[in-house]
Amino acid sequence: MIFYDFGDNSFCTRGYTWAWSLKPRPPELLLRCKKCTAGMSTYPKHPLGLSVEGGVKYPDILGCGGYPLLIVSQNVIDDWEKFGITGYEKYEANIVEANGKRIRDLKPPQYYHINITGRAQYDMDAMGFRCEVVCNYCGHTRFVDSNNNMDIPSPTIIKDGSWDGSDIFAADITPRRSFCTEKILFLAGMNERTNCRFVPLDDKDPVSNKGLDYKAIAKRMLRETRNPFEK
Ligand SMILES: [Zn+2]
Repeated sequence: MIFYDFGDNSFCTRGYTWAWSLKPRPPELLLRCKKCTAGMSTYPKHPLGLSVEGGVKYPDILGCGGYPLLIVSQNVIDDWEKFGITGYEKYEANIVEANGKRIRDLKPPQYYHINITGRAQYDMDAMGFRCEVVCNYCGHTRFVDSNNNMDIPSPTIIKDGSWDGSDIFAADITPRRSFCTEKILFLAGMNERTNCRFVPLDDKDPVSNKGLDYKAIAKRMLRETRNPFEK
């Protein structure tokens, strides 16, 4: 099974607008621990308003600077629902403000923000890092690799037996980092959804590359009769 790191590709694409902030800021995201001041990771399970700025068109996956939310268009949701994609809950994300002369006259698509409910865990021993609790009050953790860098090293290795079979999933210790199966890439590629980013989990340098050409890969999968829905 091939898994991918998945999200928006706003840093490598041009022309798509970007959500700068949430309006109003949802109260869950303002909660801070009284002891260590870390943000609490309560997911806002309700509709949100978005303020977008710049660009000349709306993408299917919208980058969000205010908070690392996965925000997808109605088109993406339609793909996922039609093909029974699992591992998420969706909540409306509505454009309430559009700044920039090219974007403000366009009608935005309906967007949704995605709470990832599918789960798999990192194989921390194989990847060479550990997760330390730094605040006993809220349970806030930090990641430390074998060189004492506070980071999660690459490539990502999923612990054997920890994947629950969901098409969209995250690890408990990084609930906002989205992973997915080939089905998500295939649907995005075949339907030419825009501004998607897919990087294989076994990539040693997932951050500085441009992401896969998922449209070409999906067409190749179809040609080679590797449609992931027919396995
Ligand atoms: Zn704390």
